[in-house]
Parts: sequence; C-alpha cells; structure tokens
Amino acid sequence: MNIILLGPPGAGKGTQAKLISEKYSIPHISTGDIFRKNISEKTPLGVKAKEYMDKGQLVPDELTIDLVKDRLQSDDCKKGFLLDGFPRTVKQAEALDEFLKSNNSQIDFALLIEVPNEFILDRMTGRRVCQSCGGSYHIKFNPPKEESKCDICGGILIQRKDDKEETVKERLNVYEKQTQPLVDYYNEKNALCKVNGTETIDNVFKDICNILGSDK
Ligand code: ADP
Ligand code: ADP
Ligand code: ZN
Repeated sequence: MNIILLGPPGAGKGTQAKLISEKYSIPHISTGDIFRKNISEKTPLGVKAKEYMDKGQLVPDELTIDLVKDRLQSDDCKKGFLLDGFPRTVKQAEALDEFLKSNNSQIDFALLIEVPNEFILDRMTGRRVCQSCGGSYHIKFNPPKEESKCDICGGILIQRKDDKEETVKERLNVYEKQTQPLVDYYNEKNALCKVNGTETIDNVFKDICNILGSDK
C-alpha cells in the first residue's frame, strides 16, 4: 500500500504517520525529518536545506526529488510506503508518478488532512518534537508523559526554529501557493481521500483506518 499525506503544516501529518506506519507495517518517510537529520549532522545537503527551511520556504525540487527516489528504492519500501511532506509541488508529484510508473506501481491513497488556518498557529507554537526520533507532541493537546522527554525513545523534546509565528505564516502561504494544487492533482487521479483533522488524534486515526481498510 503506497500512501501520501497531504495537508497544511500543523495538520497532524507526522502524528498520524507514526500511527499508520505502526499499524500497517510500512515505513514512514518524512522529507522534513530527513532534512533535519542532515542539518544536525551538518552535511552539504543540510547546509543548503537549512537556508530555505529557516525562512519557511521549500527546499528546491532538485535537492528533494532524487533524495526521495533513492529512499523509495530501499528494500523496506517493497511492501509499500507512507510519504509525509512529499510531494509538495506539482513537479515533485509528477516526478514521483513517473518513478512509480517505471516500477509498475502507483499511489493508492492521497490522504488530505483538512484543518482550517485558525487552528494552525496554536498547534505549531505548542508543538514539541523529539530530537532523536522526530515524534511530535503538543504542550496542551498531546503532552508527553514526562516533561520534555519523548514517550517512545526517551529523547529530548525541542521547539522547532521554523515553528515561530512569522515563519508559520510564511509556511501557510507557501502551502497555499505550491502544495494546494496537489489536491486537484490527486483528485483527478481518483486517489484523494479527505479527513477532518480538527477531531482528536484518536478520531482522525479511526477515520484514516476506515479509509485504508484492514488489508496491509
Ligand atoms: P510540517 O510537518 O510542519 O509541514 P515538515 O517537517 O514536513 O513540516 O517540513 C519542514 C520544512 O522542510 C519545510 O518547511 C520545507 O522547508 C522543508 N521540506 C520538507 N519537505 C519538503 C519537500 N517535499 N519539498 C521541499 N521542501 C520540503
Ligand atoms: P504536521 O506534521 O502536519 O506538521 P504534526 O503531526 O507535527 O503536524 O502536528 C502539529 C501539532 O499539532 C503537534 O504539536 C501535534 O501534537 C498537534 N496535533 C496533531 N494532531 C492533533 C489533533 N488531532 N488535535 C490537536 N492537536 C494535534
Ligand atoms: Zn523520540
């Protein structure tokens, strides 16, 4: 089963991705997590990506597409995969389709998690992420059991630099201009499924499981 997650920053993609990946035993591939790992390791890719990420802009397609294609060639993607945060531009979506087609494969579900803008700022400014595993928490809506510590791996929780108010606004603009067109793109391919992201984390997950069904 090949799945992509669509939705604005703060919609709950990362949170749902962890749950889906566990239940359906498919790898969770987050381009944001891959870039952040490269930044913390100060790789050449990380140095380039940081410039864009700190401003709330997208990392150029040339740096992003090949990275994902490489990752999808790993053995663990043979049973399917869950992409979180990719594609984010029409060019990325086209490149992904072309790559999958050449492997006799396709996207089965493009899950759009819908959350209106007025919810987003609270979600982003209260978000805390695990430095080690990328797990996403919220100081009010989904607090960790122990303060500043990841429930899953015990890693330290930090606030992302791009989760401050000005950068969030820019990210929402970027989403509307560059990523929203993908909603039509996947709708035309009959892969789009919409989920109400304003429900609780558990209820959003239930809706998603109803869409994906019980098969693996
Ligand atoms: P969120 O989950 O809050 O939407 P991500 O962790 O997915 O944020 O992405 C953080 C940043 O990483 C983005 O603002 C962008 O700069 C960069 N990024 C992640 N995925 C992509 C992508 N597919 N194309 C371009 N830039 C990306
Ligand atoms: P995305 O990956 O789409 O940017 P996240 O999964 O990181 O979003 O979620 C953004 C923030 O909102 C996090 O702090 C997360 O704990 C919180 N969150 C996620 N889903 C919900 C929900 N259904 N209700 C309330 N808060 C949520
Ligand atoms: Zn962790």
